[in-house]
Amino acid sequence: MTQKLLYEGKAKKIFETENPSEVLVYFKDDATAFNGAKKGQIHSKGLLNCAISTHFFQLLEENGIKTHFIKTIDERSMLVKRLTIIPLEVVLRNISAGSLAKRLGWPEGKVLESPVVEFYYKDDSLGDPLINDYHIAALRAATPSEVDELAKTGLKINAILKDYLLTRKVKLVDFKLEFGRDGTEILLGDEISPDTCRFWDADTDQKLDKDRFRQDLGQVEEAYQEIYNRLTRKN
Ligand code: UDP
Repeated sequence: MTQKLLYEGKAKKIFETENPSEVLVYFKDDATAFNGAKKGQIHSKGLLNCAISTHFFQLLEENGIKTHFIKTIDERSMLVKRLTIIPLEVVLRNISAGSLAKRLGWPEGKVLESPVVEFYYKDDSLGDPLINDYHIAALRAATPSEVDELAKTGLKINAILKDYLLTRKVKLVDFKLEFGRDGTEILLGDEISPDTCRFWDADTDQKLDKDRFRQDLGQVEEAYQEIYNRLTRKN
C-alpha cells in the first residue's frame, strides 16, 4: 500500500499512516543550506540522521523530555506523533558560531558565559528571521507561557545533550529545535542530527556537522558517520 505524502520538506518527507494521530517521517539524503540557495546530496545522510535522531530522542525521553518519537520503522523511517507545529525555530547556543558570530562580531569558538536561547520565525520566504517574545505574541505564534516553556525545555535539553556529548568527546556548539502541540501538551518534534546541530570534536574542534557541507570542507558523510559511531559506541 502506498502511503499518502502529507508534506515534503528539504530533508524529510512526511507520510500519513492508518492512525490519524501518527505520521511517518522519511529521512532523505538531500541537503540544502543558506535557505535553499545551496543544494546537494550527502550519501547515506538519511539513514545516519534517522539513527542519530532516534538515539537523541530516546536519550531525551529517558531524561523526562516529552518528544514526538514513537519508534523507528526502518533505516530511514521513524513513526512519530502527529503535531501541530509551532512556527518557531528554537536555537540553543553554548559556543559562538554561525549567525551569532556574525551578528555580534564574536569570533567563532568563543565559549559563551551562559547558554543563549533564540527564537526564529519559521518562514522560508522571509529567511526565518530572528524574533523576540513581543514579535511572537503579536504573531500569535505562541502564548507567553508557551514561550517560557519552550525556553525552559530548550535549556534543559541543552544541558542533557551537552553533558552526554562530552562523554562522547563532542562539544555541542549550538542546535535548533522545533516543537508542536499534541492536544494541550507541547512535545519536541522534528529531528536532532548533524543537519540541525553544530558538533565539534572535543580535542581538536574539528567540525562534525553540516558546516562541512555549507563551507565545502569535504568529508561530509564521514563526519555524520563519526557522530553516529561515537553515539553508538559501547563504553
Ligand atoms: N539551524 C537549523 N536550521 C535552520 C537554521 C539553523 O537547523 O534553518 C541550526 C544550525 O545547524 C545551527 C543552529 O541552528 O546548529 C544555529 O544556526 P545559525 O543561526 O548560526 O545559522 P546558520 O549559520 O546555520 O545560518
